[in-house]
Amino acid sequence: MEECAYIGLGSNLGDRELNLLRAVAEMGKLPASKITALSPFYETDPVGGVAQPNFYNAVARLVTTLAPLELLEALKKIETAVFRRADSGKWGPRSMDLDILLYGDRVFEEARLTIPHPRLAERRFVLQPLADIAPSLRHPILGKTMAELLASLTSTEKVVRV
Ligand code: ADP
Ligand code: MG
Repeated sequence: MEECAYIGLGSNLGDRELNLLRAVAEMGKLPASKITALSPFYETDPVGGVAQPNFYNAVARLVTTLAPLELLEALKKIETAVFRRADSGKWGPRSMDLDILLYGDRVFEEARLTIPHPRLAERRFVLQPLADIAPSLRHPILGKTMAELLASLTSTEKVVRV
């Protein structure tokens, strides 16, 4: 069955804009998948306390018949094979980070994969681009729309449209 997934993209190594564009192209090439929306790009402060360059972030809507775990494996393959992402630790710099933010209104909890993404609702660099392309989409657990979640954020991390 076709589902509508929202993918968060982030890059803070190399040519960040080109990295985002490349990742969008690679996701569009996945089997039985197509990109149907792409947010503006944002330059954002890194969170998590590690000193590192600013990120570029965006969110893409991917319509796909890949199951959640298949999609996760495909995204990890893009991170490692296309971007040669080496493990720099969970919060460290990376040329590409691809996260499944939402997958239809599915709630999925496994060691390898949690959907909706557990930190979605507290991150401006995710909610801003998500609200740009899907303002009235509802969080399946919190019951609020992306626009409402964005409006209720109190964090002051910098998220500037490129
Ligand atoms: P983060 O994205 O949190 O900075 P990583 O990209 O290094 O960290 O991901 C660590 C692990 O998180 C991945 O190997 C993956 O198995 C797991 N994970 C759990 N939920 C998700 C999700 N919704 N999207 C992507 N990865 C996830
Ligand atoms: Mg990730």
